[in-house]
Amino acid sequence: MSESEKKKNNKRNNKEKKNNKRNNKEKNNKGSILVICAHSDDQIIGVGGTMAKYAKEGYDVHTIILSFGESVKPHVKREIIAKTRIKEAQRADKIIGGKSVTFIGLRENHFEEDFKRRGIDKNLKKIIRKLRPAKIFTHSGDDAHPDHRATFRIVLRMYKESKLNADLYAFEVWHLFNIKKRNKPKLVVDTSNTFKTKMKALKTFKSQIDLSTFYNYLVLNNFLFFTIYIRDLINGIKHSTKYAEVFYKVR
Ligand SMILES: [Zn+2]
Repeated sequence: MSESEKKKNNKRNNKEKKNNKRNNKEKNNKGSILVICAHSDDQIIGVGGTMAKYAKEGYDVHTIILSFGESVKPHVKREIIAKTRIKEAQRADKIIGGKSVTFIGLRENHFEEDFKRRGIDKNLKKIIRKLRPAKIFTHSGDDAHPDHRATFRIVLRMYKESKLNADLYAFEVWHLFNIKKRNKPKLVVDTSNTFKTKMKALKTFKSQIDLSTFYNYLVLNNFLFFTIYIRDLINGIKHSTKYAEVFYKVR
């Protein structure tokens, strides 16, 4: 081999090494996924299996929660509830493999008012731009809960104003898909391998259910789990998997 050929070979080897390094980096960091929801357990109920799946695949999964959900227990101080919610959400996030949970602290039933008045939109836009999510998941615009609907409106407005090009998907917390959305493009995520993780994460939210009476403990607690189980199972059956989470595409 001549000197010039050797040089060429070395050059090529170095180039290959560099490419491999870059490929590995890309494999380890596929980008980020962002979930924006109203209350601290909504992301797990609506997107939990999907979040765990994306985390496993190498995406950075981030969550932004707009309120502390203090109105569930009006007799307990807001600060105490907030502390509990943060702890629970972080524990759940660890289980599903998430990268961060951010609480915004809007008052329930006053989401849009607080959002504008306190100038939160600027900060939130900054956070989202920094994360550069490939996909954003949020509540559906016709959810039964007024704060879920407000969350949808806030996210859609920010999405348009920031001119994001992420895919924007909506999830339902309590309902199966209604007829109105039957023709909308959907994202079906096979969560058969992460359904158990989702349920485990959900168990960290004990403070959401008032467990002070035996009735509540037995009936409400199990009802929540049963509803989610049935929903994800039916979605699975519909799409020939064991369990599935289904989203409709907003943008
Ligand atoms: Zn909620």
